[in-house]
Amino acid sequence: MKCTQRRDASATFLASRPALCQIGPMQTQRQTRREFIRLASLAAAGAPLLSSWPSRAGAVDPDRKIGFALCGLGGLSTGLLAPALQTTRHCRLAGIVTGTPAKAASWKAKYNIPDKNIYNYQTMVNMADNPDIDVVYVVTPNALHAESAVKAAKAGKHVLSEKPMEVSVEKCKQMIDACKAANRLLAIGYRNRFEPHTIECIRLAREKVFGPVKSIEASFGFGIGTPNQWRLKHDLSGGGALMDVGIYALQTARYISGEEPVEVSAKETKTDPVKFKEVDETMAFLLKFPDGVIASCRTTFAGGGLNSYTVHAEKGAFGLGPAYGYGGVRGQRSDGQPLAFPEVNQFAAEMEDFSLCILNHKPTIVPGEEGLRDVKIMMAIYEAAKSGQPVKME
Ligand code: NAD
Repeated sequence: MKCTQRRDASATFLASRPALCQIGPMQTQRQTRREFIRLASLAAAGAPLLSSWPSRAGAVDPDRKIGFALCGLGGLSTGLLAPALQTTRHCRLAGIVTGTPAKAASWKAKYNIPDKNIYNYQTMVNMADNPDIDVVYVVTPNALHAESAVKAAKAGKHVLSEKPMEVSVEKCKQMIDACKAANRLLAIGYRNRFEPHTIECIRLAREKVFGPVKSIEASFGFGIGTPNQWRLKHDLSGGGALMDVGIYALQTARYISGEEPVEVSAKETKTDPVKFKEVDETMAFLLKFPDGVIASCRTTFAGGGLNSYTVHAEKGAFGLGPAYGYGGVRGQRSDGQPLAFPEVNQFAAEMEDFSLCILNHKPTIVPGEEGLRDVKIMMAIYEAAKSGQPVKME
């Protein structure tokens, strides 16, 4: 399908979903020169945000690198975070926290990590004496985030915690309180807040380029695979698809509307009650915002194909699909204009931004309070699904 402007552009846009037009290099070339230069610089690995947010770079010493310790060396740390840290300008992999001695040995060899920067979950309290480590990036199962985050803050380290922030409002508050008491920054790993298509969609919504936003549809899901993993165990995950990936759809509803929901309703369903005995398999949820905007969201662990959002505004629509992956994000606007940007390493961008916040003494756009808000809403979604009644948000 050709992405051209039509009289009823909005209808064309909707009809093209989910087979979104592929936006390729030709359309990128049609962007204005200024925009192209800005975005091309975004794509440069290692400094994805320096040019987009020059104020954040400030007068930072170009040689100063914030030392990160990755805490929990599972799939995300191994496959994405450690490699991303090799590409960044203002941060570096300085240390690790692991409960597995074999991993300590292999990471030490691969990344040249000195013994003094290798900790386990008990010894990490001793980091207080280690100036090599500025940040502890908590990448353990959801229900273990607070434990390590509080230890890190008490040791005087800034904390970056993976999403979801934790499994209860109380535990999120513990993390916020510990970082406040230690006067350290706390951020949540909402990587796609640093992804250029996402940033552009937020701009389109804020600047009302298509008029006021009226409704939002957002979905993210995948097939979870083997049944014996922590994501399916409630005590470690705090919930299933919603906690793991539905949170991205929830985030979209909040950052696009720019508001907090006043009411949530939800319906959960299982096609495999044995595998999903402890956690939600598929969840549909509705968020009602103060000005009447409604967000209709879906998430699942049952299979692929849910990975997009559409924002319906008064004079048109825009959105992304795929929206939430590590790469390959594609955008579309109902007026036929391109919504296409070079790909960035979202994890490198997220860690680089946190480092610049530390170096420049600036607040993060993804603070602990943001993670807490999501957890509070997800708890209300679970309550609504259980009771079958809408839940009012305070
Ligand atoms: P994983 O299972 O691959 O790794 C978890 C790590 O925690 C392992 O190294 C494991 O040894 C360690 N661990 C410590 N105590 C444990 C315990 N009691 N039980 C199980 N493991 C324990 O998980 P992952 O995919 O790396 O996810 C870790 C965190 O990162 C989660 O909070 C997840 O939501 C988040 N995550 C975020 C993204 C993203 O795109 N931002 C992607 C993947 C995962």
